[in-house]
Amino acid sequence: MPATNEQRITTRIGYGWDSHEFRRGIPLKIGGVALPHPKGLGGHSDGDVLLHAITDALLGALAAPDIGSLFSPADPQWKGADSAVFLAEAIKRVKAAGYVIANLDSTLILAAPKIGPHTARIRDHVANLLGIQPDRVGIKAKTPEGMGTDNAAIAHAVVLLELRAAKRKR
Ligand code: MG
Repeated sequence: MPATNEQRITTRIGYGWDSHEFRRGIPLKIGGVALPHPKGLGGHSDGDVLLHAITDALLGALAAPDIGSLFSPADPQWKGADSAVFLAEAIKRVKAAGYVIANLDSTLILAAPKIGPHTARIRDHVANLLGIQPDRVGIKAKTPEGMGTDNAAIAHAVVLLELRAAKRKR
């Protein structure tokens, strides 16, 4: 299919999923926000499970390579990396392809800490990273009832991209 046809897709949906294991003695960051908790999320980068899921949702919407392909866990340059760097690359690709983010929805699944008191802060921060209004960002949290994943944090994210108005007129 020629690239010009590809440009005529006015909306694209993307989905991302991630999980990381809790480890004692490292800082916890979810959605780029530091949360008070005795355990953080292990991983090659800063383990920010929500930003990883959102990054993969954006890349998936573009049918681009996923986060692990672009930022290999085997590459020492990403050790301890701020996951906002991964998200920024995905956003750059969204813009380059001529799209804007219409909205994002996400669900966190973790036993602790309670996310409710921090939801607004996480939503505002994620909205800021994405360059969209907070009323376009859904942040929900559930506990993993009956799943046996109490030592992990899981995140699901879906995004809707819209072709920029200027591109639609072509
Ligand atoms: Mg990850």
